[in-house]
Amino acid sequence: MVYRVTLISGDGIGPEVTRAAKKCLEATGVKFVWDEVIAGSKAIEKFGTPLPEYVLKSIRKNKVAIKGPIITPIGTGFRSVNVALRQELNLFACLRPVKSIPGIKSPYSNIDLVIVRENTEDLYAGIEFKKGEENTRKLIGLLQKLQTKKLKADCAISIKPISPGATREIVSFAFEYAQKFKRKKVTAVHKANIMKYTDGLFLETARRVAREYSGKIIFDDCLVDNLAMQLVRNPHNFDVLVLPNLYGDIISDLCAGLIGGLGIAAGANIGKNIALFEAVHGAAPKYAGLNKVNPTAMILSGALMLEYLGEALAAKKLEKAVAEVIREGKFVTYDLKERRDDPAAVGTQGMAEAICRKLS
Ligand code: NAD
Repeated sequence: MVYRVTLISGDGIGPEVTRAAKKCLEATGVKFVWDEVIAGSKAIEKFGTPLPEYVLKSIRKNKVAIKGPIITPIGTGFRSVNVALRQELNLFACLRPVKSIPGIKSPYSNIDLVIVRENTEDLYAGIEFKKGEENTRKLIGLLQKLQTKKLKADCAISIKPISPGATREIVSFAFEYAQKFKRKKVTAVHKANIMKYTDGLFLETARRVAREYSGKIIFDDCLVDNLAMQLVRNPHNFDVLVLPNLYGDIISDLCAGLIGGLGIAAGANIGKNIALFEAVHGAAPKYAGLNKVNPTAMILSGALMLEYLGEALAAKKLEKAVAEVIREGKFVTYDLKERRDDPAAVGTQGMAEAICRKLS
């Protein structure tokens, strides 16, 4: 079987980490044909848009894609291509396993939890009103009529939509995942004490879905601020976390910190019949082109892709090869060394090659 996969190398460190991942995926023996397309800064230069239609077309046709990180300008400029891809392709579930790898320095060991983040709604929906614009003034006027809280005339507004449909979909995904991978507990994360209607609806819907799994999977819920504290104090109390979009984003980085940093945190965006695999980390522009950063997150995202394609044995083989190289500690990037300025650290491609040698 040969898999045709869309490959987006992305911005910043994207091209180097995707190159490393491609090398390791091919070294598992699974056959791929890469449909390489461009998005992000390079696409703006060539097509005048960061997300050209042919990228979406390629992913819709191949059904599977792997991508490097893409830069999103802060405050101004184009909207996130990463978010647009998830919304356009309805990749409603963001799956981020958080697992300790022996050999990586971290105050914690044996962490094994899974983040399931809703990917299409919440404050990430991109419904925003800029300070001082005509529509913002109109909206403020309308809101003053509809409720009693005062709004400053010069404020900007972002909208947080949460629907029962999307919540049901993501919570069901979390329970199905828990069942398939023999997990014991699903925790719904929210701030329903303050956002009674949006997070309240998320929690109410989660409770309803949980009833369908009662007796099989334990269900509980946690306020997001309390979760942040508890994850630092006792991360072993958690198993599968299901969260609305924004909390999922923030908690993902916190959890990456628990296992040793962004360099090793892998992820997948999954829809009904399309999936896109990408690391949790961003484009880290200051390291671009230096062949310095850790390729592990991208390579392990590739392992998630193998699992999704039904190549579970190859996925396990790849995870094992990564774990061995990290445990041995010789051919690893600077961030995995005892001292970050250790001259013996290898580059991005050097670490990928060491992983390939384990696979051969
Ligand atoms: P970032 O993840 O790019 O980098 C933050 C820091 O984490 C880096 O400076 C580096 O010290 C460390 N880091 C990240 N990846 C690493 C790796 N593979 N190995 C070792 N260390 C690594 O976060 P940022 O600086 O907030 O974002 C930079 C750009 O990336 C922004 O434009 C942002 O919008 C974008 N971004 C894209 C995605 C995505 O494509 N899905 C995700 C997050 C951020």
